[in-house]
Amino acid sequence: ADDVALDPWGSSTVSDYRKLFEEFGIEEFDEILEVVPNPHYLMRRGVIFGHRDYRPVAEAMQNDEPAAVLSGFMPTGDPHIGHKLVFDEIIWHQQQGADAYALIADLEANAARGMTWEEIDEHARDYLLSLLALGFDPEEGTLYRQSANRELQDLAFDLGAEANFSEFQSIYGFDGETDVSHMQSVVTQMADILYPQLEEPKPTVIPVGPDQDPHVRLARDLAERMRFFKVSEAYASFELEPEERDLVADFHERLDPADFDDDTLRCTHVADALEETPLSDLDVDAATLDSVLTKLEEGGMEPLRPRTRFFDRRATEEAFDALIDAIDGEKRVYENHVDAFEIDRDEAEELAREVEVENGGYGFQPPSSIYHRFMTGLTGGKMSSSVPASHISLLDDPEDGYSKVKAATTGGRETAEEQREKGGRADECPVYELYAYLLSGDDDEFAKRVYDECVGGERLCGDCKEQAAQLMKEFLEEHQEKREEVEELLEEADIELES
Ligand code: SF4
Repeated sequence: ADDVALDPWGSSTVSDYRKLFEEFGIEEFDEILEVVPNPHYLMRRGVIFGHRDYRPVAEAMQNDEPAAVLSGFMPTGDPHIGHKLVFDEIIWHQQQGADAYALIADLEANAARGMTWEEIDEHARDYLLSLLALGFDPEEGTLYRQSANRELQDLAFDLGAEANFSEFQSIYGFDGETDVSHMQSVVTQMADILYPQLEEPKPTVIPVGPDQDPHVRLARDLAERMRFFKVSEAYASFELEPEERDLVADFHERLDPADFDDDTLRCTHVADALEETPLSDLDVDAATLDSVLTKLEEGGMEPLRPRTRFFDRRATEEAFDALIDAIDGEKRVYENHVDAFEIDRDEAEELAREVEVENGGYGFQPPSSIYHRFMTGLTGGKMSSSVPASHISLLDDPEDGYSKVKAATTGGRETAEEQREKGGRADECPVYELYAYLLSGDDDEFAKRVYDECVGGERLCGDCKEQAAQLMKEFLEEHQEKREEVEELLEEADIELES
């Protein structure tokens, strides 16, 4: 288990995907496939193998409700067939009705990878041309470059106020030598992930490789922390008397989630507190309690009140609930209510978000993610931008693409005879991956036929590679023609290409 390390800037491969489910809580994609409308072939074939909380996104698309997809590209080299997976994922979500965002992570490329601005400019354009050539609709979708997006920077600043260095240390292994720009690029990336929700909270999916999971987890965490962030600010303006403020402080103290180590305990604790704390224990009289409530209502917190309608309790306790909701609007406390009173979570969540947005907050929903397998390099091992023979660039001369496939490692046997007898090892074959991830396109039958013929011994590697090489050449020719056709679209698109 020790060899599973998720480092967004490292070059680690994740050898055993099952461990991701166990150790990091990534869920299996198969389990939600049935709620996905017209699943993409990468989903059907298990290339997209895992997810975090993807259901709300799938359901929103199914019900024609707002949803979004976003992914970023670090322009560190030419876009290659591994990046195509992510392009396809963004485009597919756009076609299912999601708002699609693609961004050039230039700040990250500069800060985390040391790319110069000239190098970044050169590659940024190539990524976007391939994205458009593959079908991204720039009129419906949004393209931006991190450094040129002012709103993004403002959001990053707000998010930075909720994150701190020790957290970065434990998540990313940052230390005293880590430069500040690198940290800034992390909060910028957090802002990217939440950017689609800036105008309106909505289920949002980030398609990534599993090595990017730390970013997703941090973003989900920050989204939670940002909730009710502004509500508590609004609360500060309620002009409470010192005695009233003490009451508030007392409540914060009582309900500090750090005191409770698991959901059940937390829930029991709060339920107990509600059941057992008589008004006399609060160190305030009924008039003060009432005055706090009145001030909160006058201060615009009134929409919080309807929440008490969920609870069938004595009047004091209702006031008590409203008070907790109002003065400590943190999600965690709120969740305790959901658990303790078994109110409908979706309805309550929705209500809470409305209240938050009305009060000037962001109302972010925790972003979801889907994870795709890494492609194996054509020479075996990891596909790497820095080893040209290991990958096929979307800009490769089609003839070179052809030759690289012809020269690829296979899962074939020593001799043709042995292959006929035992069958090939399609599951370990980079050439089969090319068929499954790219060359078969939407044609499942074809992908399955290649597989069955291979493992059944009817297919021999020479012919199989020839066919794949030919298909790759055709794909590259077609893709590069389309790239030329979309040049104009890119010029018209609202994105700054140069730093
Ligand atoms: Fe790979 Fe094709 Fe050989 Fe099977 S026949 S091992 S799929 S190259």
